[in-house]
Amino acid sequence: MPADTATRAGSPKATAVVGPIILLGPPGAGKGTQAKAIARRFEIPQISTGDILRENVVRGTELGRKADPVMKAGGLVPDDLMLAMVAARLKQPDAARGFILDGFPRTDGQAQWFDQALESITFGGRRMAPVVINIRVSYNQLLQRLTGRRSCPVDGRIYNVYLQPPQQEGICDSCGAPLVQRKDDKEEVISERLKSYERQTQPLVDYYRRQGRVHELNGDLPVDQVTAETLAIVESSAAAGA
Ligand code: AMP
Repeated sequence: MPADTATRAGSPKATAVVGPIILLGPPGAGKGTQAKAIARRFEIPQISTGDILRENVVRGTELGRKADPVMKAGGLVPDDLMLAMVAARLKQPDAARGFILDGFPRTDGQAQWFDQALESITFGGRRMAPVVINIRVSYNQLLQRLTGRRSCPVDGRIYNVYLQPPQQEGICDSCGAPLVQRKDDKEEVISERLKSYERQTQPLVDYYRRQGRVHELNGDLPVDQVTAETLAIVESSAAAGA
């Protein structure tokens, strides 16, 4: 069934209580793609901390001015800024049935803060533990995905010049806008981002494994297969009440 069929108004998916979903995996693992698929199917928001930071940079907010140099260097924005930003986003009414965290938590401090925050958040009247999906991808695939990634600045569609090229080079298939490459997808920044991931974010997989919450996904598989498995995990966790 195409993803959109399940999300039409009146579908039970549009009222299901899904709870918090965390997507873990290195930059380029496909977290954004999978988050969008879950968001479409269950009509819950994708909360991409990278996207929110980039918007702040474009708008020139104080947060954006502080985050910009850190992001350009491939480092991690300090926890105090991240926690305030995420806390404000989780309060939005669209997150009441659940949400997908894409790019958060990324440090031990963020994970512990989020566990605490979940103690006072309810979904459809009850507290819910996070469903954690860890997408694993081989190093060569990661490099190809990051260096080839292009996105549409208008509608957010993601392409890859090697793996999923647009029909016309450099142009968005659906809206015709010229595609752009993220500044931090340049080769010199990528190695720093992968180092930040290994140092600070990889240990979070063990943190959630100790809680018995991690679902492992092989992100080297074709994207449709990864999406099917992702949706099946979310579907069964939502049905079981996580
Ligand atoms: P992403 O789009 O998730 O790859 O994020 C792009 C950049 O935003 C990262 O390389 C970090 O500099 C910053 N960033 C995003 N999420 C976080 C986070 N949870 N903690 C710290 N920095 C973050």
